Amino acid sequence: MPHRILINTSNLNGAIFPTFVPMIDQATIDRIMDAAEISDVVSEFVTLKRRGVNMLGLCPFHNEKTPSFIVSPAKGIFKCFGCGKGGNSVNFIMEHESLSYPEALKWLAKKYHIDVQESEETEAQKQLKDERESMMIASAFAQKYFTRYLWEENEGRTIGLSYIRERELRDNIVKKFELGYCPDGKDTFTQAAQLQGYQMEFLEKTGLTIKRDDWVRDRFAGRVIFPIHNVAGRVIAFGGRTLKKDKNTAKYLNSPESDIYHKSRVLYGIFQAKREITRQDKCYLVEGYTDVIAFHQAGIENVVASSGTALTPDQIRLIKRFSPNITIIYDGDEAGIKASLRGIDLVLEEGMNVKVLLLPQGEDPDSFSRSMSSTQLQEYIEANQTDFIRFKTKLLLENSENDPVSKARLISNIVRSISVVPDAITRSMYIKECSSLMDVGEDILYTEIRKLMQKESDDLRRKEYRDQTARKLAPQPVQEQKVIKNLCEIEEREILRILLKYFHTEVFEEEGETPEETISISVGRFVIEEIENDGLYSDNELINKFVDLFRENLDNPQFKPSQFFINHSDQQLCQLASDLMSEKYVESKRWKKGGAFVESEDEVLDLLVPKIVQEYKLRKVKNMLSDLEKGIQLASDDMEKVLNLQNQYINLKKVEKHLSIQLGNRTITR
Ligand SMILES: [Zn+2]
Repeated sequence: MPHRILINTSNLNGAIFPTFVPMIDQATIDRIMDAAEISDVVSEFVTLKRRGVNMLGLCPFHNEKTPSFIVSPAKGIFKCFGCGKGGNSVNFIMEHESLSYPEALKWLAKKYHIDVQESEETEAQKQLKDERESMMIASAFAQKYFTRYLWEENEGRTIGLSYIRERELRDNIVKKFELGYCPDGKDTFTQAAQLQGYQMEFLEKTGLTIKRDDWVRDRFAGRVIFPIHNVAGRVIAFGGRTLKKDKNTAKYLNSPESDIYHKSRVLYGIFQAKREITRQDKCYLVEGYTDVIAFHQAGIENVVASSGTALTPDQIRLIKRFSPNITIIYDGDEAGIKASLRGIDLVLEEGMNVKVLLLPQGEDPDSFSRSMSSTQLQEYIEANQTDFIRFKTKLLLENSENDPVSKARLISNIVRSISVVPDAITRSMYIKECSSLMDVGEDILYTEIRKLMQKESDDLRRKEYRDQTARKLAPQPVQEQKVIKNLCEIEEREILRILLKYFHTEVFEEEGETPEETISISVGRFVIEEIENDGLYSDNELINKFVDLFRENLDNPQFKPSQFFINHSDQQLCQLASDLMSEKYVESKRWKKGGAFVESEDEVLDLLVPKIVQEYKLRKVKNMLSDLEKGIQLASDDMEKVLNLQNQYINLKKVEKHLSIQLGNRTITR
């Protein structure tokens, strides 16, 4: 048993992460997890080949030619060593089908014929859900009605379909996007819907029918219909294009905002594009319905449109779920340029990568994609898309060459865009490029950016102060989770990994009450007690929660850590467990014990486990020392405080030395 050292960490707190409340009861979740065998679930989408105890295949989440996607039936997890994605069966379905956690559970329940018992909902929740569901059902009916009308009814064929044929859209593409036609007239559609039992309430709430005191009419009468799908593929709204030449009629008409359709959160084509966006790891953003459809017809499927609204942050986040790379493809006219400039900053703010392609004057993506083959189009985009710095430079320098004033204005414009990028490394790359392109020193750009960011944070602080003052008068809201940088991440993950793998393994013996009696101590008990005795907590609440769950199960022989965490309903716990279990580098290390090499870590646990705990303590101590150094600097005017901190510093230094010596004495090498 190694000597235990007490470290005073009373200033670190160990609050518990808020508990996750599943919509589906735990017994059902357990049944689903038992049934959903990982290789069975994955093989529905990926061809797997057996490799020893694991299975190997091509990753469905990124483009690869040599397989780096591994499924471990024994551990119940998958892991891609190319893109890093990994997790259990539910995570796989969530990722692959773009579903939420409860949706993915239901997906699996359906596959394995398990009845889902949902937990009690409040009356209000139930009513809202019923209402939304009724609206979706009415929309689904409308889509089928419009589509049937386009293909089968005389009016649909002669007017709607002939317009579509003029646009040279192929039948398979028209069917893929479920285009349709709404008969002209007052309320032909509404009557048909009511005849089928659809209530006026939901026809009105979805905006399909417009009802006033003394009249009723179809919103989309006489229009070609473009259904709008949500990410899961359900119809939530419609766009309608008029075929009349009347100048008083709007060319395009959209469904109004409703409980199921929030314009700013929807992207046209996302359902049809999501898989390809993931596969290509890139999304093309165009302006209209017809642009999206034209690209599909040209064989390019990773494309969406922000139809009916200017691009919003919610729409960008929706794309981010599938890829961090966006190329904005807009018309080369003034409106297109303006929209692109606005889009660039929005995309950058979300920490994503943005490129821009303006089409030649007079062309839109629809006309342009029809003028060339799919390969030509793809090549054109690849060759002509530019990063935002080049785009802005070219655009803004065009009329003002060699004019120092406008050059300065341009630089500050570009710098403003760079300053919204959240990641420092990406920012520095952009600065490098801007510097060489504009022939300005990097240090000047850095100074400009720092000024802007300083101003931003000052503004933010002022706003916070104002909000705080306002809040004093209002009831206190729940405190938000603070993001703290965790400096002990590596050591803490190693501890969790060891706990997951060897929790019950007995490694040490301790003297009991009498000299003859010995008590065996498991890895779990040893690690938990060591951490507990020194009052060590992580800065990461998720890790604390992990440790708490281990602690609760110290005396539970039934507790199977890997199974417990991999199947846990808290997605963050489950994700972390799966990451830890697939850290394969450890397996390939050779261990030295008593001068001889041993092949696996479980033969050296008695040395390894204390070493890992000591390493963690040493890291904690080092961090506390550096905090104290900062504290001493800050307290320079307050002599008493400085002395106090210095005392603490000297004591901790001793602890550090002691830990280092102990670690150095261990004969284990890695
Ligand atoms: Zn991958």
